[in-house]
Amino acid sequence: RVTVAGSINMDLVLRCDHFPQPGTTIVARSYDEISGGKGANQAVSAAKAGAQATMLGRVGEDAFGERLTGRLKEQGIDCRHVLSTPNCESGLAMIMVDPAAQNSIIFIEGANGRFTPEDALGLRDVIESSDVVLLQLEIPLETVREVIRIAKAAKVRVILDPAPVPSALPEALLQVDLICPNEHEAEQLTGITIDSVDRASAAAASLHAKGAQHVVITMGSRGSFLFDENGGRMIPAFITDAVDTTAAGDAFAGALAVYWAQHGDLDQAVRFGNAAGAIAASRMGAQPSMGTRSEIEALWGS
Ligand code: ADP
Repeated sequence: RVTVAGSINMDLVLRCDHFPQPGTTIVARSYDEISGGKGANQAVSAAKAGAQATMLGRVGEDAFGERLTGRLKEQGIDCRHVLSTPNCESGLAMIMVDPAAQNSIIFIEGANGRFTPEDALGLRDVIESSDVVLLQLEIPLETVREVIRIAKAAKVRVILDPAPVPSALPEALLQVDLICPNEHEAEQLTGITIDSVDRASAAAASLHAKGAQHVVITMGSRGSFLFDENGGRMIPAFITDAVDTTAAGDAFAGALAVYWAQHGDLDQAVRFGNAAGAIAASRMGAQPSMGTRSEIEALWGS
């Protein structure tokens, strides 16, 4: 069982001919409500990749909150422990997209910011009975820290996708079984620009020295660099026609967590994650772009 503790957001996407100037009103071409939040995206990835996935987090006591949990349930995700937050809105992003595909975003963390360490403590049994706990940084850092503490005490594996990287990341958050930044995040965390495999290796070694037992740096179409006590190795990407890499990293993290929980072989788990990331990159969208277990296996075994 894979438990994801993280953010749940609604993205309101408005397509327009140009962005509005202050004091003006424009008419949108279209409007879509797209489920997002790195936490929810990774839970969807894990469920599609074949896990019994459990979501922990908070939504607002509003229509979006119900819709967001409803959509997660449709994917087979256990949402019994998604908490409803009185007098608070759900996490929301208002995204304007122009014809050149540039975007302009206003974001409110809403209920995600109300997911407290006390909430995590109240969910202790769920965390302790998981095979893997998967975290990102779109909920309060002290809550992430508490989930890590509970999981570690129960010897439950913890994976941290350190996104978005905060201005100061407490070192306690690096004391995890696996950390999986992308190249930009790895650079923000270590100060090392990842422009070659050698530099990825140096950044990964630095994160390993700070306490992360295993490190995976995802490198887009190049694949993923895995580092642990046996040293580093590049696990190449699957070749695909990328049309939209949104949530490729989320697809990667969710699928990797599932394979690692089920089989325990991290090299193969990274390869499985690479297959899931390639499928997500080959299709439009975030959650709908993620592959099913059989699709991932077909690519993974190819
Ligand atoms: P993020 O979305 O967090 O920036 P990446 O872009 O590094 O993460 O993607 C995560 C993983 O997904 C990569 O390690 C790779 O395996 C796979 N992936 C991403 N983009 C592509 C691509 N264009 N072609 C093939 N695989 C890709």
